[in-house]
Amino acid sequence: MRKPIIVGNWKMNKTIAEAVEFINAVDPFCHDGATYGVATSFLALNDANKAAKNLIVAAENCHFEDNGAFTGEVSVPMLEEIGVKYCIIGHSERRQMFGDTDETVNKKAKRLIKADITPIVCIGETEAQFDAGETEKVIRDQLTGSLADLCPKCVENLVIAYEPIWAIGTGKSATKEIAQNCCHIVRDQVAKMYGDECASKVRVQYGGSVKPENIKEYMAMEDIDGALIGGASLKVDSFKELIEKTR
Ligand code: PGA
Repeated sequence: MRKPIIVGNWKMNKTIAEAVEFINAVDPFCHDGATYGVATSFLALNDANKAAKNLIVAAENCHFEDNGAFTGEVSVPMLEEIGVKYCIIGHSERRQMFGDTDETVNKKAKRLIKADITPIVCIGETEAQFDAGETEKVIRDQLTGSLADLCPKCVENLVIAYEPIWAIGTGKSATKEIAQNCCHIVRDQVAKMYGDECASKVRVQYGGSVKPENIKEYMAMEDIDGALIGGASLKVDSFKELIEKTR
């Protein structure tokens, strides 16, 4: 049985005080039915992690090198030091605006796994690729690169977020059938790379305009084990509703 995992991706939103206030308001409503989490800015991570008792707190990125001349970056040992247990890598915004590639995502995944931090590996096609019928190829290629040379035991413990770029922040969410089909392709590709047992254990999230009104339909699909949620994760009431809807 795969435990559902619902993570709010706050992106560049919420100051430290706002993050802590939010966590204090939402944390008591988490329940054992799923793992709930929030991904905060690097600055808010430490205080957020201390405030969270039930929620898990995730970083939104990391660097794969441990230290050195990488101005503005944060390394995995730095995350480890403050007890962070999850880290989003390869989000499409990082791939599109900050130069992340399958190769760097792969290096980040390897470094996080070594530190026992669970990577949430994001993949997904652009609207043009979707329109051109290239979605399956994009998903398989991104996974081939991002998950290269890992051990099956490591892969079964990570989280993969399938997020079609055309659905992120647009309100134009994928239909549950498209989301299921793509999450199935994700699982199938993991099976090809690391075997059926690994594929049956890895948790696959759908992301892209998920909200309280539609989360139930995604969660009911066979290969969807959770959601990565941007906009709808920013308000306490909306997050509480997401928790309620996945009880
Ligand atoms: P959205 O963002 O829920 O606002 O579409 C999802 C994401 O970027 O992870």
